[in-house]
Amino acid sequence: MNKQNPCDIMVFGAHPDDLEIGAGGLVAREVSLGRKVVLVDLTQGEMASNGTPEERIVEAQNAADILGVSDRVNLKLPDSRLTVSEEFLEPVVRVIRRFKPKVLIAPDNNDRHPDHIAASGLVTQAMFISGLWKRYSDIPAHRPARLFYYFLHYTREPSFVVDITKVHQTKQRAIMAHVSQFGTWPGQNPTELPHLLKRIQSRNGYLGSLIKVEYGEGYYSPEPLKVRDMLQII
Ligand SMILES: [Zn+2]
Repeated sequence: MNKQNPCDIMVFGAHPDDLEIGAGGLVAREVSLGRKVVLVDLTQGEMASNGTPEERIVEAQNAADILGVSDRVNLKLPDSRLTVSEEFLEPVVRVIRRFKPKVLIAPDNNDRHPDHIAASGLVTQAMFISGLWKRYSDIPAHRPARLFYYFLHYTREPSFVVDITKVHQTKQRAIMAHVSQFGTWPGQNPTELPHLLKRIQSRNGYLGSLIKVEYGEGYYSPEPLKVRDMLQII
């Protein structure tokens, strides 16, 4: 993709596997519809129990390939130390202005991991500040039209559910591409992550049941959704 061209959707994660877990189905589905999607990891996940930053960059690129996305950016902010601060806001604003997305997707702030909460706040504030032309005025301002939040540790009543049935296997493969996190091998530091795939599948099954499909992903919108065509939402 020509990096100067605006993208349709920009999806953020605090750690390199977050966006696959919460929004991998939406990404695969939108790519299959011909949309330009850019993935942005805020940190390299260097505080995880397993996996080096170098391994995780490769895994993240493999996952992006599986999802069909060519642009995946890592802002290399500090893992486990994310805060909503001027220092970390600037790179998020700059990546939004660089790709000019119409829609932003970010982690929901209802979560137990401080980085997920901070990532949610950073993207929320960056979306607004990106539209202020007097801030970081060396790069043209851009304000995305909408921001939707995906779920990681906790869920809430979704504002809408995306049918990911056709791309569910793709989503699962993209998650498993993060081998250092979800694989099992002798000598690894024990974590709950190898058991997580089944739980994600169960959650996607439940969310799908809400809209009478096999698998779904839930999203939260703080604003009401605009409906132009009633028949498009049945
Ligand atoms: Zn995470």
